[in-house]
Amino acid sequence: MVTIAVTPEASNEPRVAVSPDTVKKFVAAGCTVAIVSGAGLRSSFSDDAYKAQGAEIVSSPNDALPRADILLKVRRPSPEEFNTLKPGAIVVAMLDPYGQRTEIETLAATKATLFAMELMPRTTRAQAMDVLSSQANLAGYKAVVDAASKFGGALPMMMTPAGTVPAAKTFIMGVGVAGLQAIATARRLGAIVTATDVRPATKEQVQSLGAKFIAVEDEEFLQAQTAGGYAKQMSAAYQAKQAELVANHVKTQDIVITTALIPGRPAPRLITSDMVASMKPGAVIIDLAAERGGNCELTKPGETITTANGVKIIGPINLAGTVPVNASNLYARNLAAFVDLMISKEDKSLAIDWDDELIKGTLIAKDGEIVHPSLTEKTA
Ligand code: NAD
Repeated sequence: MVTIAVTPEASNEPRVAVSPDTVKKFVAAGCTVAIVSGAGLRSSFSDDAYKAQGAEIVSSPNDALPRADILLKVRRPSPEEFNTLKPGAIVVAMLDPYGQRTEIETLAATKATLFAMELMPRTTRAQAMDVLSSQANLAGYKAVVDAASKFGGALPMMMTPAGTVPAAKTFIMGVGVAGLQAIATARRLGAIVTATDVRPATKEQVQSLGAKFIAVEDEEFLQAQTAGGYAKQMSAAYQAKQAELVANHVKTQDIVITTALIPGRPAPRLITSDMVASMKPGAVIIDLAAERGGNCELTKPGETITTANGVKIIGPINLAGTVPVNASNLYARNLAAFVDLMISKEDKSLAIDWDDELIKGTLIAKDGEIVHPSLTEKTA
């Protein structure tokens, strides 16, 4: 019988790693689920709701961690939690594998088996376990809602006897999962939407959502996608041409939402302070890349600033966490689908296929060693 532990997250993380729905699935699969009282409250999951699905509610992490085979978390567990876990226990979380390397090494040294959900391969089979997508989708939605509330105008065009309210011009930079949802949400609210990306495949996606695609479409652009579907680092020459196009476009926009990321690198700088200075008073920039250094030169992570020319720049650090009920529900389902791979259907014990591409793709440490190629190569 496999024991799963869930403990509360830190005060700045409202999400939780299990939902009543996934507790039910784990219990049906023969697992014991020990949840520290109150762990789900900030996602509106009460102890009673968990209990009703078969969870055991315990009063402190010490009652769950020493006997857990698997610890499920949203963020990196604390060093104290690691020290309370039994050696070799499995930890599944968004472990931020490329951040704070020394801490990852310390955690690995506890001999816990660490799975970083951010590294889940972007394959069809892994879709149900793709935490980046489930959370980015909600972040893209919330970015538009937040922009709409901070913007001093309305998003849809309104024709009234007193005159016409123009539709807000909204520009989405980076058309991955978050960007696509931002386009769809801004369109639903009636904005005039344009979008840009360095991957040519996004042009059709942008147009299919009823938005206009803006990019320098030269030879380099046509080749700019890795086999994994991610963005490539573009040449300085391309970046200069694209920056000029974007600079002229940004001047006219009411709302700009930036979501551009390149895996394992700092976020690309897309909006300079000069561009911000050229924008209209009252315009709003929401920089979803704030946590990774920001797409806008002036972004301050976790802060909203207003520039001298009256542009608001918002640098949210956990937008999905601001819709915790949905974010936790989807994240919990991602984790449940992944843990399901580890449990034998015959005798309900732990049975991990270490050669499975999803296990290998996310495993970052085992038996005291860091094992993920992207992490071992970096130090080699
Ligand atoms: P991401 O968060 O890594 O980046 C966001 C977007 O920013 C990307 O579209 C990227 O091309 C873009 N970008 C990077 N540099 C830029 C620049 N200088 N200017 C403008 N845009 C820039 O992306 P993501 O949401 O994680 O999606 C990455 C890819 O993975 C996409 O192709 C997506 O369709 C794919 N994907 C596949 C699956 C699956 O098959 N299971 C699931 C989710 C995503």
